[in-house]
Amino acid sequence: KRRIGVMTSGGDAPGMNGSVRAVVRMALYSNCEAYAIYEGYDGLVKGGDMIKEMQWEDVRGFLSEGGTLIGTARCMEFMQRDGRRTAAKNMILKGIDALVICGGDGSLTGADKFRDEWPSLLEELVEKKELTSEQVAPFKHLNIVGLVGSIDNDLSMTDATIGCYSSLARICEAIDSVDTTATSHQRAFVVETMGRHCGWLTLMAGVATGSDFIFIPEQPAKEGWEGNMLSVIQKHRHLGKRKTIVIVAEGAIDENLNKITPHQIKEILSGAGLDTRVTTLGHVQRGGQPAAYDRMLSTLQGVEAVKAVLEATPETPSPVICMIENKIVRRPLLEAVAQTKKVAEAIERKDFKTAMELRDAE
Ligand code: ADP
Repeated sequence: KRRIGVMTSGGDAPGMNGSVRAVVRMALYSNCEAYAIYEGYDGLVKGGDMIKEMQWEDVRGFLSEGGTLIGTARCMEFMQRDGRRTAAKNMILKGIDALVICGGDGSLTGADKFRDEWPSLLEELVEKKELTSEQVAPFKHLNIVGLVGSIDNDLSMTDATIGCYSSLARICEAIDSVDTTATSHQRAFVVETMGRHCGWLTLMAGVATGSDFIFIPEQPAKEGWEGNMLSVIQKHRHLGKRKTIVIVAEGAIDENLNKITPHQIKEILSGAGLDTRVTTLGHVQRGGQPAAYDRMLSTLQGVEAVKAVLEATPETPSPVICMIENKIVRRPLLEAVAQTKKVAEAIERKDFKTAMELRDAE
C-alpha cells in the first residue's frame, strides 16, 4: 500500500485542518495509508512519534477547527542539507514517499528542494551507512504536492489561499464591532490589518465594510496623501456619516517606500479635530473557526492533492493545487513560487503595474 504523508507548515491558517482531513480520508479511500507529520518540518527531522499513521476517525471534527491540530513550526534544521537528509531517512523508515504540504511559499519552496535532492540524499544515507541500499531501493522518487495555506492570499496563480476568506470574515466582524462604538461617539478608528506585502485582506475588508480610506502596499500613498485622505473623510462627514474607518495594511508604504503606520494616521486625523483611536487586530485575524469557503476549498484541494500524488510520474514537476475562476486546478509549484517572488521584487522596485499583472496571471 502506498503511504502518503501530510503536514502543515509555516504560519497557521484557518482551513489547514480541513486539508489534513481531506488528504487523510482521500488517501484511505484510495486504498493508501495516511500519515500525519506533526509540527511541520520539525516532525520530519525528528521522526519517530512525530509521524503518526492516521485512520478515518482520527480527523473527525477537523473541518470546523481553526489553526492546525497537527501543529506547525519554523524549522531551521530543514533549511540545512543535513536536516533534510535526516528527514529523508525518517520518511524511508516509515515507508513514506509522498508528501502533501499545506503552507506558504517558504514551506513549498523547501518541499520542492527536498524532492530535487531526494536521490542524492538517499545516496548519502547509504554512503554514511545510515541506511542500506536495500532499504532505500523501493523509494527512488519523492512525490511532493503543495496546498497553499495562508491568510494573506499572496500566492500567484491561485485566486484564493486556504485561510484568506476566514481571515477576511474575522476582520469584517471586528470592524463591524468598532463601527458601532465609532458611530455612537462620532469617532475615527484606524485599523491595522495583516497581509505582509499583500493588500488583498485590506482591500477586500475596505470594500466589505465600506471603510472611508485604505492603505495597501500595491498602491503606495502619493505625495499629499494626508490632505487627500482628510478631504475624503470630511466629505463623508458632510454627508452625515458619524464614524470614520481607515484601514492600514501592515505592509502599507508611501511613494518613497516609507512605512505608513496607524499612529501616523491617528496624528493626522486627531490634528483635523477627529477623536481618533487605533485598533490593531493582530493575531485575532488568524484565529477562530474557518469560514464555509475555506472548509470547501481545503476539502476539494485536499482530495485533488491525493489524486495528484497517485497520478504523478518522476517527470511531472511538483504541482501546487490552485483555485482559478472557481475551478480546482494544478499548477507547477516552482513556477507559482517564482512568480510570487517576482511580485515582491516588482513592488520593491516600485513597478506596481508588473506586480499586479503577475499576481493576477494564471
Ligand atoms: P511560510 O511557509 O508560511 O512561507 P516560512 O517561510 O517560515 O513560512 O517557511 C516554513 C518552513 O519551511 C521553514 O521554517 C523551513 O523549515 C522551511 N523552508 C522555508 N524555505 C526553505 C528553503 N528555501 N529550503 C528549505 N526549507 C525551507
